[in-house]
Amino acid sequence: MVKNSEQPKPLSTRDQRELVSLRDLSARVGSDPLLVQASNGNTSIKLDGILWIKASGKWLSHAMQEEMLVPLDLAEVKASIQKDAQITSRCALKHELRPSIETAMHAVLRHRVVLHVHSINAIAWAIRQDAPGQLKERLAGLHWRWIPYAASGIPLAREIERAMTGAPETDVFILGNHGLVVCGRDCHTAEKLLCEIERRLAITPRRFPRPDTTVLAMIARFSRWRFPDVASLHALGTDAVSRRILRGGVLYPCQAIFLGQTMPLLPPAVVLSRSTERLKGKGGTPAFVAVERSGVMLNEKMTSAERATLIGLAQVTQRTEESARLRYLAEAEVADVLGKGAQGYKEVLVRELDGERKTAYPQNAYIS
Ligand SMILES: [Zn+2]
Repeated sequence: MVKNSEQPKPLSTRDQRELVSLRDLSARVGSDPLLVQASNGNTSIKLDGILWIKASGKWLSHAMQEEMLVPLDLAEVKASIQKDAQITSRCALKHELRPSIETAMHAVLRHRVVLHVHSINAIAWAIRQDAPGQLKERLAGLHWRWIPYAASGIPLAREIERAMTGAPETDVFILGNHGLVVCGRDCHTAEKLLCEIERRLAITPRRFPRPDTTVLAMIARFSRWRFPDVASLHALGTDAVSRRILRGGVLYPCQAIFLGQTMPLLPPAVVLSRSTERLKGKGGTPAFVAVERSGVMLNEKMTSAERATLIGLAQVTQRTEESARLRYLAEAEVADVLGKGAQGYKEVLVRELDGERKTAYPQNAYIS
């Protein structure tokens, strides 16, 4: 066991090179909004008994500008998982950064390099009830496994372990209502495989009606809602299929954490009535409002993580077929994510996903 006081061994030149490769790859992957939104997604490499993993709350896209890899004693992490114990900084060789909530998953995977991304294309398949069958066709010939939804942390790691039993060569995992994991012996191999999966799972987004800028301009005039700088967001209001998908419930944890459990999807008359109370949810005024048949307006206090999550959600709904039967998160699963259920890990998830965020939605009224 590595004691806190012990200094890690100096890295060999080869290991240093591998860490730079991982940071370089992390920055590229993290800068692609179709793979990573805000601080979600995490990467790791195992070098000489040490698991180097992305820290909670860090953005992969910043990997070349700031230190974000936490070195952990791999044997110690595995022992914690076996005992079902929390992986805490006790295992960390450096203390400034906290290891990602998905550390357990990275630790149980045998491969040296592990990339976990919230691929929009993978998620668009992974929210479907018929996902395993659809993926079977598209991922034929690859060593992949379907992982039914499991809460982040040890529950997800256990599902991954179970899937690998009898199939140790598996290097692609599609996580139900969550995302994608790709593994490799080095960064180059893992990146090549990630590109191949993305190619096979690619879906062309549906076209959507243009926003009604007259209605949106009226909303903008009397309130502090602002026009989005990304046109594709309007689909959440103007596209009937997207609206129906949104009304169905929560598709994946990030949606519940950053955008709330119920989507603020309202007819223009309600938004224009200046009825603040009708827009306010339990947590205050929402980060955005989707105006039926008109488009989307953003709360000027929206955080960058909320914005990235919303752009991702619009990309997912535009890639989801009208006829697809979807698997939404169950009430208990959403409760867990939001810290009301058995696991109560919202705090951990918020720290994991958004270092900048300190509170829930602002309590002030933005439509006055
Ligand atoms: Zn994830």
